[in-house]
Amino acid sequence: MTLRWICALLLVMSQLISAQPGFGQATAPTPSPITGYSSQSSAPESDWEKKFQSGISPENIRENMRRLSARPHHVGSPYDKDNAEWILSKFKEWGFEAKIETFNVLFPTPKVRLVEMLQPTRFQAKMQEPVLPVDPTSGQTDEQLPTYNAYSIDGDVTAPLVYVNHGNREDYEQLDRLGISVKGAIVISRYGDGWRGIKPKVAAEHGAIGCIIYSDPGGDGYYKGDDYPAGGWRPREGVQRGSVMDTDYPGDPLTPGVAATTDAKRLSIKEAKTITKIPVLPISYADALPLLSALKGPVAPDSWRGALAITYHIGPGPTQVHLKVASNWDIKPIYDIIGTLRGSDGGQQWVLRGNHHDAWVNGADDPISGQAAMLEEARMLGELHRQGWTPKRTIIYCAWDGEEPGLLGSVEWVENHLDELKTHAVAYINSDSNERGFFFPGGTQDLQTFITGVTRDIQDPETHTSVFQRSHLASIAKAKDAEERTDLRKRSDLLVKAVGDGSDYTAFQDFAGISTLSLEFGGEDDGNQYHSIYDDFYWYTHFADTDFSYGRALAQIAGTAMMRLAGADLVPVDYSPQAEAIAKYETELEKLLKDKQDEFTERNLELQEGVFTATADPRKPSVPPPVETVPPYMNFSPMKNAIELLKKSSERYAKALSDWHAKGSPALSEQSLQHLNSDLLKISRLFLNEKGLPERPWFKNQIYAPGAYTGYGAKPIAAVREYMDAKKWKEADEQIPQVAQAIENAAAGINKAAEDLENAQTR
Ligand SMILES: [Zn+2]
Repeated sequence: MTLRWICALLLVMSQLISAQPGFGQATAPTPSPITGYSSQSSAPESDWEKKFQSGISPENIRENMRRLSARPHHVGSPYDKDNAEWILSKFKEWGFEAKIETFNVLFPTPKVRLVEMLQPTRFQAKMQEPVLPVDPTSGQTDEQLPTYNAYSIDGDVTAPLVYVNHGNREDYEQLDRLGISVKGAIVISRYGDGWRGIKPKVAAEHGAIGCIIYSDPGGDGYYKGDDYPAGGWRPREGVQRGSVMDTDYPGDPLTPGVAATTDAKRLSIKEAKTITKIPVLPISYADALPLLSALKGPVAPDSWRGALAITYHIGPGPTQVHLKVASNWDIKPIYDIIGTLRGSDGGQQWVLRGNHHDAWVNGADDPISGQAAMLEEARMLGELHRQGWTPKRTIIYCAWDGEEPGLLGSVEWVENHLDELKTHAVAYINSDSNERGFFFPGGTQDLQTFITGVTRDIQDPETHTSVFQRSHLASIAKAKDAEERTDLRKRSDLLVKAVGDGSDYTAFQDFAGISTLSLEFGGEDDGNQYHSIYDDFYWYTHFADTDFSYGRALAQIAGTAMMRLAGADLVPVDYSPQAEAIAKYETELEKLLKDKQDEFTERNLELQEGVFTATADPRKPSVPPPVETVPPYMNFSPMKNAIELLKKSSERYAKALSDWHAKGSPALSEQSLQHLNSDLLKISRLFLNEKGLPERPWFKNQIYAPGAYTGYGAKPIAAVREYMDAKKWKEADEQIPQVAQAIENAAAGINKAAEDLENAQTR
């Protein structure tokens, strides 16, 4: 799509949208009360929100970042603790009750790292990111963690090298077709297309004995733009550190399901399922280039090629590699800083907000861009409190430690406070890295209407339209086809995307069944130094959100959302978008089944006809795909029936809510409110099944979970979907009734809340 076309589209759409009643802000003559607010409480809330928004200072966010990213601050480092104490003192200074909660977790740091090529020539990888004179913190070498992948098992292996593209399951199917096995080999995979931890996991499942992951310049280097320091992109010797912990459960590997307190019962390292099966190391493309250019064997398929000036071969041979990894397997303290602003309800209901503070190195972008904005929110809420504002519900700000190794701080904290959270938590709002660009929220869709309402009230700093308007139009521009565009044009809300386990919302959503939002701006970055020593203050202030105006917008959105959630008479949830999303996930399962039935039927027919052998180049190695069992019928009707109930109850609740607002939003009696709110807050818990997912019992949520083979991204209805992806159709079919049961439970909960609201007494 050309730029001119996009501009024309933006213009037309903005005219169309502002012409619709109730859509743009300009057409609303008198402000209607905020959803969930009574007529008495709505106007003062709006005044406080405006005060809050105008008080957020980009300068303060910049200074927060300068302070927090001044030195490397990974788990167990002196500056990690120093930052924690500084954040604690700030929370206290701003009027929060604050404390540090400490846990003791397994955190390996590198002892031996070796990648050397033995054949056909000798080469030893440097694995060292150079100091750049222009970048002042790049020289803090004494405190920097060397480049490595945390939770790689120790190992010392020598073997032929095989290039496996991104190292996903589909890549290995392609290798099978080429007749190439990785059994006994060391694989080299490029970063990207899925989470890094999947690469060694799938490699080990296919018999590989070692795994090297490199950053191809096609992913985040010179192919994208000028590299650092002339531009913002990853330089020749830049390396992406990162955890490769397996996806069975997040958090401390030694204490699954329980908090890593001093006296917790711990597994031995050998028993910990989340440590990799084979040794792994990450390297730069400067270090990968000699290895890859020496490879022979078949030329890699088109889609497997990166942006290096070589012909990409797969191998194996003649490249022979020696890989050696050993870590210090130490238990390290992590520091979660918890700041509480007590609500007038005496702590009955909690609204939580979090962002991690630990980084791989200086971490200006990841995570300080989000942390610095979150702290500015907290400062301003403290300021409002001083001026006389008190939230109805209790507000809890959390600065997590240990997110980078495996969501350690947030997971251990949620495991430690599980019962209280289940009783009190209304919602959890997360942020992490924040950059320039568009706003696409993730989380649970019961908060979709709510967060859309907030984004209508916040301005995009560079285009001066509302954040809502810009993101709404961007979603149309990004739509994959005409049908999707038509659908999006009809919407008056932003779609909330399901999230899996990419950041600290994981334990809240997947384990404790708490409604979540994950908030960030992005998509217009001028570079990427993810998990490298160059993700620092100099880089961020030259190539990312240089004036912190998007940091300000993030603080305005998240802080306003906190105030609104904490102050509303009725918890401002709307279940219709969630019912719609769950219905869509179910449709996707049915479509997947149908697609696989068609695909395998066709493939088996072609095998019978001899299509593969007849069309393969006889001079090149090629293996026909295996005969597949065509998937049998699966009975989705229990799930479909449950979703119908969910839709009906959601509509009933929405109607009760709009009837209340239509009557002028009269204040409700204390007793009715208490009854209704405590019912509302439990509804998201009803999606849990205490047994958890069939092969990953830590994950309790039957709707929202990450994929075992995708990582980060969500795989909704994973109990069924994971088995389908593994071609275990019968097992998948057997999971349907219990997912349906969870949906039915939620529908019943929503019905109860609707009844409460229909019968609520006014004051
Ligand atoms: Zn992060």
